Amino acid sequence: MTVEICEKPPRIKSRAPVLWEWVNCNLCGGNDTEPYHQERLTYFDREFDFRIVRCLQCGLVYTNPRLVDHNGTYLRGGSEAPGEIERHAQAKAPIFKRALKEIRKQQKRQGHAPGGTLLDVGCGSGHFLGQARRCGFEVCGIEPAEIWAAYAAETFQVPVYRDDVLKVQLPFEGFDVVTAWDVIEHVADPYAVLRRCGQWLRPGGIMALRFPSAPWQKIKGVVLHDWLSSRWPAFGATMHLYFFSKHTFELMARRVGLEVLRLRTTSTEANTRSLLGDCAKAISHLTLRGVEILSRRHLGNLEVYCRKVRP
Ligand SMILES: [Zn+2]
Repeated sequence: MTVEICEKPPRIKSRAPVLWEWVNCNLCGGNDTEPYHQERLTYFDREFDFRIVRCLQCGLVYTNPRLVDHNGTYLRGGSEAPGEIERHAQAKAPIFKRALKEIRKQQKRQGHAPGGTLLDVGCGSGHFLGQARRCGFEVCGIEPAEIWAAYAAETFQVPVYRDDVLKVQLPFEGFDVVTAWDVIEHVADPYAVLRRCGQWLRPGGIMALRFPSAPWQKIKGVVLHDWLSSRWPAFGATMHLYFFSKHTFELMARRVGLEVLRLRTTSTEANTRSLLGDCAKAISHLTLRGVEILSRRHLGNLEVYCRKVRP
């Protein structure tokens, strides 16, 4: 991956240097892009305009330039109250339950016994690991944020590696299932991370991911910024670096030896905080689901299940 680092931010209100990096396309290596969206976001106590671009060669959408310290707010952020973490976890429980059901179904379809070893990359608070263990999986997680890694390990008494995913040493072909919920959009090099996850999988093993899709973020961007002149983030480009579509994800998966078995629009996101928010998200999900059924196009946040087809 080509990375060029400099100290010149795109613009405004910076009192101290913030490092930015320009990168080539992570899927095809090209650097010919067109503007896709722009949003003004606060990063710690400063405000910047973030540019999201689309590769003219392969269609991958990504933030460019991007903050070198792009996960700083997450990695160094304060802790949430335990009650808040549990509230989020309760809201996510049905999503995790559905995902585990789908993983076991895909294992059966591949002729494997459901269960086995499961690695959750970016395990956060560890609630998915806890649920997977209750379903019979032998689990472990990777989590770069110290506070979340400690919470997961202490709450669920599971092994959690606190490090960057590409620095963790685990046995190749050591896992029946690898999951990465809401991770791939955050990492600096998704190709390398996907490839490494594939290396950790046994042949025929299942990889499951969820990530925000490029078309869905664009729809949110148009509605929030162009129509409503809102300051709410759509792409969340302080932390979100890549936005795959069904097409670009399938291309990358194929390059690392993964075959997409199933791809679907996810149910309503869990981190809602109000009845109005819940209603808006439920309506948007139903609308997207309708579009998905009628047009066979996937516009929402995507949940993908893959099979390892080659080393
Ligand atoms: Zn490209």
